[in-house]
Amino acid sequence: MRDLVLLGDEALALGAMHAGLSAAYGYPGTPSTEIIEFLQRQQGTGGQETSFIASWCANEKTAYEAAVGASLAGRRALVTMKHVGLNVAADPFINSALLDIHGGLVLAVADDPGMHSSQNEQDSRFFADYARVPCFEPRNQEEAYAMTLEAFEVSERFHLPVMVRLTTRLAHSRAVVRVGEAKPPRPLDKSANPTGWILLPNLARRNWERLLKAQESLRQYSEGSPYNALTLSPSDRELGVITTGLGCNYYEENLEELASNRGHPSHLHIGVYPVPAAKVRALAAHVRRVLVIEEGYPLVERQLRGLLATPVAVEGKENGAIPASGELTPDNVRPALGLPERPGLAYSGPALPGRPPQLCAGCPHRDTFEALNLALTGYERKLVTSDIGCYTLGFLPPHQAIETCLCMGASVGMARGAAEAGLHPVVATIGDSTFLHSGMTGLVDAVASRANLTLIIMDNSTTAMTGTQPTILPSARFPELIRGLGVDPAHIRVINPLKRHTEENARILLEEIEHRGPSVVIALRECIQTLKKKSRLEATE
Ligand code: SF4
Repeated sequence: MRDLVLLGDEALALGAMHAGLSAAYGYPGTPSTEIIEFLQRQQGTGGQETSFIASWCANEKTAYEAAVGASLAGRRALVTMKHVGLNVAADPFINSALLDIHGGLVLAVADDPGMHSSQNEQDSRFFADYARVPCFEPRNQEEAYAMTLEAFEVSERFHLPVMVRLTTRLAHSRAVVRVGEAKPPRPLDKSANPTGWILLPNLARRNWERLLKAQESLRQYSEGSPYNALTLSPSDRELGVITTGLGCNYYEENLEELASNRGHPSHLHIGVYPVPAAKVRALAAHVRRVLVIEEGYPLVERQLRGLLATPVAVEGKENGAIPASGELTPDNVRPALGLPERPGLAYSGPALPGRPPQLCAGCPHRDTFEALNLALTGYERKLVTSDIGCYTLGFLPPHQAIETCLCMGASVGMARGAAEAGLHPVVATIGDSTFLHSGMTGLVDAVASRANLTLIIMDNSTTAMTGTQPTILPSARFPELIRGLGVDPAHIRVINPLKRHTEENARILLEEIEHRGPSVVIALRECIQTLKKKSRLEATE
């Protein structure tokens, strides 16, 4: 055993390595990106435990499917993504619960309550519940490591995919983790079950029955897990507290003061799902009031409430006792525990100026937006849709060049719909990585319907927003790819977004905007940050 200081993401990655990982796939997304990055740093550095694959994929769906394939071959596989990425991978994830999972298959998903870097706060535990598969929710980095090891065992024991859910605060903070020795990887051993991997309706029905029957075994496993710990207080029959994951830390930070005010309440901590119903009932039978402190949506709280009145009062996010949005903190759970608010730090200095996020100085997107704004001058019923990446900042001054951001790839589909509804001109803006993720399929639709739109691929040759991971195809392949999707080669143009080319670029954009039918303009210039990284590397070589 040895002690290491690790991010939550890194602890999870090391847990997978020590479980005998053979393959890890993912798509970058804050706060999950560091899992694959850690594995890529370890890959091939020596010893059997570093001889795995760790690879970025076109999107979360293809990443999940690759991991399922590795599991079919008998290997242990990890797949990583952020919470909204699981929407993209939902189809293979939910269906894979009906497969006869062979090599351990673990989905690591990192949620972002408080939306530090996301479009929403959705809670991935609902997806695990929906798919009816087990879910682990670590409360600290050490549990992230240990639970990932355990998740692979559970996956092979129950022949199911297993989720490990992190949240931003845990994924991106460091703590000491006691780690053990690595297990050897599982040998290549293709599943021998001929009907376990093919979801024809008659087989899927049978597999669904198997999944339903497994629920009782999963409940028993969850009831017996040391990660679901119940402590009944002999002296306090009034308050019981249920915490999940990180919520436990926020409760425990207040516990000393709470205990000196009113004694120790009874406490059930939940780290493994399905919810341990017998332990919940034992707690509820002991107290008059249950307070639920959970990061994310009120999943446990809703399961406690059901539809009918219960003999114990249930408090949490649904009745406003705990904040329903944003991250929990030790301070914002205090009122629900009957503790006074902590005084804030008094600040008497001058008001600080706002610092809205900005594109970097010299960013190629700045010059693309300038050319686009120039090209669109004078049009009244214009629409510029956009997508998810650094360029979403084009909504803000001084650019004010884009109008929409929904989800990965939506700029192209929305542009098609708006163009077919009669708007003109309609321009979609999307990054190179986002285009490969899920913009390509929207472009195929636009080609099929000859939609009157211009797509600008803002190709900076990297996935910049999540830390400059490489785009899975080089920029040189884009024109051939777009031709292959059916766009008329005469209307695939490449521009160099530099200030000195602004007027020329605006003219090219205008020509394509006026073309009736789909056209694509690739604005190709490398991200300033990857250029800086390269020069730093060159200087040290
Ligand atoms: S990281 Fe790159 S793409 Fe993002 S704003 Fe900075 S220069 Fe532009």
